[in-house]
Amino acid sequence: MTSVLLIGGGLAGCTAALALLERGVENVRVLEAGARPGGVVGTHLVDGFRFESGPNTIAAGARAFRELAATLGLADRLIPSLPQAKRRWLFFRGRLVAAPLGPGALARTPLLSPRAKLRLLSEPLRRRRPEPGVERGDEPEPSLEALLTERLGREPTRTLAGAFVRGVYAGEIEQLGAWSAFPRLWSAVQEHGGVVRGLFARRRTARALPPPPGPLVSPGRLLSLPEGLGELAPAFERALGARLVTGARVEALERRGARWHATTADGREAEGETLVLATSAAVAARLLGDAAPAEVAANLTSIRHVNVTIQHLGFERAAFARPLDGFGFLVPPDEAPAPAVLGTLFPSNLFPGRAPADALSFSSIYRSEDLPSSDRLQQALDDLAQALGLARLPAPRTTHTVEWNDVIPQYTIGHALRMQRARAALAAAVPNVELIGAYLDGIAVDDVVRSGRAAAARIVARLERDGGGA
Ligand SMILES: Cc1cc2nc3c(=O)[nH]c(=O)nc-3n(C[C@H](O)[C@H](O)[C@H](O)COP(=O)(O)OP(=O)(O)OC[C@H]3O[C@@H](n4cnc5c(N)ncnc54)[C@H](O)[C@@H]3O)c2cc1C
Repeated sequence: MTSVLLIGGGLAGCTAALALLERGVENVRVLEAGARPGGVVGTHLVDGFRFESGPNTIAAGARAFRELAATLGLADRLIPSLPQAKRRWLFFRGRLVAAPLGPGALARTPLLSPRAKLRLLSEPLRRRRPEPGVERGDEPEPSLEALLTERLGREPTRTLAGAFVRGVYAGEIEQLGAWSAFPRLWSAVQEHGGVVRGLFARRRTARALPPPPGPLVSPGRLLSLPEGLGELAPAFERALGARLVTGARVEALERRGARWHATTADGREAEGETLVLATSAAVAARLLGDAAPAEVAANLTSIRHVNVTIQHLGFERAAFARPLDGFGFLVPPDEAPAPAVLGTLFPSNLFPGRAPADALSFSSIYRSEDLPSSDRLQQALDDLAQALGLARLPAPRTTHTVEWNDVIPQYTIGHALRMQRARAALAAAVPNVELIGAYLDGIAVDDVVRSGRAAAARIVARLERDGGGA
């Protein structure tokens, strides 16, 4: 019976392990450095507030995630976001302005000049000519900013898309590659001649699919679990049992004949014929070391990751004269003066049970380099006061800080091609090794789940082809 050694028990690694079990590959071992599985996904319960350490929300259309939830027995526990989470705010010229979520709101929004609105609303009429035979990679990759400026104009690209990109990647729109960072948007533009035409076509395709597991909710809504996404960790533990080993940081990896041997920091050993690396790119490169061609390490270590600090804040509800509705706010890239924060979520508006009934919560997300090393809490309070248009905030009832290093990989121009090359060079040099995770196939939870499942499918297909069976 074949054996699979998985390093990294984040979302990618645990999903791959589960998908292997589902496909009949039972001899699986997951080595996870942390005390619990899930990686950045987790929930902290602090003084009655539930604060997320990573993702807060999953798009309702996230089919792969919903299928994972069904496998874990959690599909019936998925909850849709509250109606008051619908509105999204942008910090614009010193105050919060509602982001336009439809053509009527776009026509009225103060976020864009009349000229910019005309250009934006006429985008469906300016069909982009398809370039027959041109594939991704035949031409230099445009930045996301270049693609969107050509289609939508500069103002909406910088203000609306620029803010959105900061919310997703903690990065800047001019640095990300169009087909690397938003491949579905890029192919929609290629295939359908424009952003709006492409989005409508995608919506039609999604509607034609059978409903995914979990609650029936409209595509604009968001999903989570009643006790936060941290519910995934015990569910992974239950489903994987003794196959999951936590507190096992792999320090060394070695190929001995047809098998891979891992040694953990505390001297434990594990082995397998197939190796799945589900860590960050830098850790994967370091662990592979000389076992992989230099081109693999060069491509993997070229990825820039962002260090992120999340400042969670809880307040008495009564301390605010007029609590805001909505999901939260984002700060577009060109605002000045602007708070240092990339954006702030309003968790107590997102799902029930995120804060005590008499309280409100905020989660402010920073690139760690944008925060001063001392008095970071005061910076977060000042930024929130500035955004909410208050002279000062009341003293918080509770605070909680989460810091992550090297977590959000930046899909810069050329990223997709570099990863394609790294995977091809690895496959040509060493058989039976899979790279998965947020730096390869998309950073959203749904993409990462898909990355793990696809690796399991490739492993099983290889086993069947080689006649080994599962
Ligand atoms: C702050 C934040 C907010 C986010 N918000 C959203 C959101 O709202 N919606 C959304 O869809 N997506 C969101 N994402 C993205 C998504 O959550 C991540 O892309 C995804 O969870 C990454 O999963 P992963 O398994 O690839 O990586 P990780 O979660 O980083 O897991 C990697 C695992 O490898 C382990 N590991 C590392 N080195 C070793 C070693 N040597 N030996 C053993 N184990 C090791 C680590 O301990 C870790 O558990 C967010 C991400 C972050 C950081």
